[in-house]
Amino acid sequence: MLVGVPKEIKNMEFRVGLTTGSVAELVHHGHRVLVETGAGDGVGLSDDMYREAGAEIAGNAADVFAAADMIVKVKEPQPEECRMLREGQVLFTYLHLAPDPEQTRLLRDSGCIAIAYETVTANDGTLPLLSPMSEVAGRMSIQAGAHALEKHMGGSGMLLGGVPGVEAARVVVIGGGVVGTNAIRMAMGMEAHVTVLDRSLKRLKELDFQFGCMLNTIYSTREALWKHVTGADLVIGAVLVPGAAAPKLVTREMLRAMRPGSVVVDVAIDQGGCFETSRPTTHENPTYVEEGVVHYCVANMPGGVARTSTMALNNATLPFTLALADKGYRQALLDDRHLMNGLNIFESAVTCEAVAEALGYEY
Ligand code: NAD
Repeated sequence: MLVGVPKEIKNMEFRVGLTTGSVAELVHHGHRVLVETGAGDGVGLSDDMYREAGAEIAGNAADVFAAADMIVKVKEPQPEECRMLREGQVLFTYLHLAPDPEQTRLLRDSGCIAIAYETVTANDGTLPLLSPMSEVAGRMSIQAGAHALEKHMGGSGMLLGGVPGVEAARVVVIGGGVVGTNAIRMAMGMEAHVTVLDRSLKRLKELDFQFGCMLNTIYSTREALWKHVTGADLVIGAVLVPGAAAPKLVTREMLRAMRPGSVVVDVAIDQGGCFETSRPTTHENPTYVEEGVVHYCVANMPGGVARTSTMALNNATLPFTLALADKGYRQALLDDRHLMNGLNIFESAVTCEAVAEALGYEY
């Protein structure tokens, strides 16, 4: 099979669909890989490195789209990319179609076979191609929060871990899932006092078992949120209610009761955010101050560490990419119901129930 990797063209997107390591695996399996020139520049993977891994380099995206049997990307295709897709061509990437009727229409028109990373499932009910990005965002939330606590960022001027003789900061993590667990690890590593609140007792038990007495686990109620959020120096919002907007758990009133210069990092901002005062920000302008509290609400946090994110994403996608290339999409989908759950568009029909429901298509 000929696998094509175009350069990402979405604004400020530096990640790339295949690393040189993934290219070498595909080539080892007998496939050809065509990479658009400069596709890996943003993550330090040059054309020469791709050539060394066995890829061929194309001068532009049109050549990649025209030649490839399967396109592997990171972000959803932009309209000009959708128009280059053709009937029977496989597209393997993040799509997020439910809120995007225009992209859905363009993909249906193209006749391509669109498999979305975000709806591929695993046996334990998790989303294995989404969780690497949650791991990245969770770990990043603490370094972003620590930085925002610095005085010149509007923060209270507090060092997360304190120093001998001076108290460490209090970090409160709301939601102890993938993002929350990774935030907890980082905050503990920086020697802050860490508390996690979750509505799942099962999850709190697992976290208690994993981190022991170093972690304060609290069942999330309104009262508990008030007590812990108002006493915190840094709050990480990491809740997820699958398929729904994030619940607004932290009110403006709670923020008013926090010490001025405290920081909130709303990782759940991509689902609307769990702080009443949150609004999406960008890597260029990541923070703003409201009610005296510094807010960091970057909606695509992993994009800020594109190199790590690319590697993490490839570790998760590679087995599926290889299966699609080795077996052809039909057999690969038939052999693996979890990969089949990733199929969003097939023969111009919407084949993902949630997307069909959201956009009013027949399923
Ligand atoms: P997850 O499902 O692994 O964890 C969510 C946790 O929230 C669960 O443990 C759940 O029990 C808990 N929860 C739900 N409702 C709650 C409530 N009312 N009070 C307390 N806890 C509650 O999800 P995740 O992968 O950790 O993702 C968390 C959020 O981060 C999602 O909104 C996800 O889209 C977002 N995210 C954002 C970025 C970004 O760049 N901003 C990147 C990755 C993930």
